[in-house]
Amino acid sequence: MVSAGGGEGGGAVIDNAVLELPPDATWDYIADLTGDNSWAAPEMRKIYEEIENSHYVKNGTDGHGFSGWLETNRSNGSWIGDDLDATIVLRAMLGQLGAPGNMSVEDLRNQLDRDINALDPVRDQATGVFGLVAHADSKGHRFSPANYVRKALVENPDLPLFVELNSTFTDIVWDPLSSGGPPAVMAINYVVGPSAYKADPRYNPHRNLTTRFTYIGKELIIAGGVFNSPQILKLSGIGPADELKKHNITLVVDAPGVGANLGDIYEGSVVSLAKKPNIDEMGSYSVQLKTSVSQNGSGISLWPVPYGFEGYWPGYPEDHGANAFTIAFALKNPHSSQGTVTLQSTDPLDPPEVNFRFFEKGEEQDLQEMLEAVSFVENMKARIANSSGLVPIEELSPCPSSSRTCTSGRIKDTLKKQVYSRHATGTCAIGNTALDPTAVVDSKFRVRGVNRLRVVDASVFPKPPGAFPILPTFMISRKASKAILSSSWK
Ligand SMILES: Cc1cc2nc3c(=O)[nH]c(=O)nc-3n(C[C@H](O)[C@H](O)[C@H](O)COP(=O)(O)OP(=O)(O)OC[C@H]3O[C@@H](n4cnc5c(N)ncnc54)[C@H](O)[C@@H]3O)c2cc1C
Repeated sequence: MVSAGGGEGGGAVIDNAVLELPPDATWDYIADLTGDNSWAAPEMRKIYEEIENSHYVKNGTDGHGFSGWLETNRSNGSWIGDDLDATIVLRAMLGQLGAPGNMSVEDLRNQLDRDINALDPVRDQATGVFGLVAHADSKGHRFSPANYVRKALVENPDLPLFVELNSTFTDIVWDPLSSGGPPAVMAINYVVGPSAYKADPRYNPHRNLTTRFTYIGKELIIAGGVFNSPQILKLSGIGPADELKKHNITLVVDAPGVGANLGDIYEGSVVSLAKKPNIDEMGSYSVQLKTSVSQNGSGISLWPVPYGFEGYWPGYPEDHGANAFTIAFALKNPHSSQGTVTLQSTDPLDPPEVNFRFFEKGEEQDLQEMLEAVSFVENMKARIANSSGLVPIEELSPCPSSSRTCTSGRIKDTLKKQVYSRHATGTCAIGNTALDPTAVVDSKFRVRGVNRLRVVDASVFPKPPGAFPILPTFMISRKASKAILSSSWK
């Protein structure tokens, strides 16, 4: 498993850039879990306002920010034209949502101007079509933390920030003088050299690597992501005692939650072949859907893709030819967070073993919710008129048209095998560290049982955040920076 992005900016330099605020319940859950009310939804909205520099809503719009580092923009409906294939699909989507079939181009464009991140008391319940909001600048170009860091260094060359690229942090060196109190971070070991990590496809066993050591000043903040942060903690002696013993790693803190609680949104798709080839770009929008089993607002997000896409595997995507298109979907609140990240060896350059253990909890409900997403797409396709030139539409997956009909059971079986993952969270979960031994960090991101160490990345979410994770991760980064600036370690 490769860390998303594999470099400066992390996943934000390669992701689909979609920004969606999680439902309020996500933040309120963390506030309840930790007893720290600064995590409550209204407080987290303020954090969002602080980091955002919105290019898509009118300056001053409540609930948005206009001077933060995170440039945001939204796709609009300027591409919509009456005879386009993409417009036909959009109309069918809206028709399936109950909208009249004869919406004007202007009305369709208005739908895409709906703001999925609006400050609206019923936002979490909102369904229907929304233009995609992205981490993008005023021209629509990707804007990520890498741009932010570079910009900050250019604007302020005296900034006390040193970025060392091509370096892989391997483990923590503990302060031998901290005996008596909790172990404290003293230094770190790391290696320097390109593509050192063995999960990197460019990895070359003959590359030149040098080992380095550096002292840590005030504190160490680990942000290696869901797979690597727990790996680093374990290699440094913080993890489940049994697992560390198996690898002869000296135990610093018995922390059973490190590498546990791995969760993810489930993603699936309906892949089809239209009658004609080269159907045009399908527009950037999502459809938020509430199913009969959705809890906590809209449970499904769907979006069109102008080619066949069934998920990730080496060599993906399979080429289904020029007639293929996909309606992809995400189940935003899956029930299972049972996955694990475990060490395969004590070599810090070996990737850990990742096992998502999907569907170990709530299987029936989650498959039902995705089945309803598939039904939505199939009913949507049935609305497309013969005159469109797209019909007949042959389904390739999950119910190949050649099978004529599929039972719900068969579709669920296919979905269970097909669902894929790219929005992992968990593995160093926030919790009440005073009461819960499985909590890895407290509400201020401090690792339980040691001094001068925090983890700040998507690994700290105690359960999938109910939305794509990059915006929630940007938000917690800001939250952590406040905690760091206002705290002092012994
Ligand atoms: C194809 C794809 C598309 C996605 N699209 C979206 C989307 O549209 N919207 C959304 O919300 N989310 C999306 N995501 C998910 C999103 O990218 C992640 O949730 C997010 O990047 C997690 O942030 P993070 O800071 O926790 O980890 P990461 O972004 O993975 O950052 C961790 C960083 O640490 C570095 N690192 C790891 N180990 C070490 C080490 N030992 N030493 C030094 N550096 C190390 C990594 O190289 C990486 O740069 C997508 C993910 C993928 C893979």
